[in-house]
Amino acid sequence: MQRFLTYIESRLGNIYSKNEMKSISHLLLKQLAGMNSVQIYTDKDTKFTDCMVNKLNTAVDRLANGEPIQYILGTTEFFGLNFKVMSGVLIPRPETEELVELILKDHKNQQIQLLDIGTGSGCIAVSLAKNIPTAKVSAWDISEKAIQIARENADLNKVDIDFSLRNILEFEQSEEMSDKWDVIVSNPPYVCESERADMGTHILHHEPDLALFVKDNDPLIFYRHISLYAAKNLRKGGGLYFEINSHLGEKTLQIIEQNGFHAELFQDLSGRDRMIRAIL
Ligand code: GLN
Repeated sequence: MQRFLTYIESRLGNIYSKNEMKSISHLLLKQLAGMNSVQIYTDKDTKFTDCMVNKLNTAVDRLANGEPIQYILGTTEFFGLNFKVMSGVLIPRPETEELVELILKDHKNQQIQLLDIGTGSGCIAVSLAKNIPTAKVSAWDISEKAIQIARENADLNKVDIDFSLRNILEFEQSEEMSDKWDVIVSNPPYVCESERADMGTHILHHEPDLALFVKDNDPLIFYRHISLYAAKNLRKGGGLYFEINSHLGEKTLQIIEQNGFHAELFQDLSGRDRMIRAIL
């Protein structure tokens, strides 16, 4: 471990803190080399095969190039479950776990029909399906790659989800019967182009723009379209849940209320406006 850690520090010291490098070393040795924690901390002289050395070196090269560890390992944890991730889907964020938690608090054990719009890796839909086994869960995304990965994540976690390739921005109101859903949830793209400057290169160079960014002249485009769709397709009393841009809380609330909802803002663990619950 110490030799590997020293090597990691020499290669990645300019991008990661000491603590981050420690957990990166641990993750690589565990997930790529198959070592357990005891072996990692006690075994000082593990001899790796050439093939393993190559594998570890390739991973470190990719890390040095700023690629997130989750894409390199191809997996991450969200809400206590394992998810496959790769470029093409956003890496699930801890604040999104808080959104799942809020929905669970309101709907645990209920027989609901739930729709996740812009599902990405499927992290929201899968963790809700897993924790509300009585729910019927559907999930949409505009990206074929995302739907494919989300499907794999549903299989991996043994839940049944009805996936469709759909673009909510091109939705014809007449297409759908009304009163179909009890809950609609979405974590749509909400980062303004002008906020790019505040974001790390590991996000900008490796995570999908499609899942992150909106134009500065219409940053709430998804909230407008989704709340309009929800106003027509949620049953009366149904819940619409969003993750939001923390700088646009009040404005997002207004747009949703204009569509006939009673909306409420919630803060994430760092105290920022991050979620909205809206009741029809
Ligand atoms: N929370 C994500 C980030 O800041 C953004 C997620 C989104 O756009 N829906 O990177």
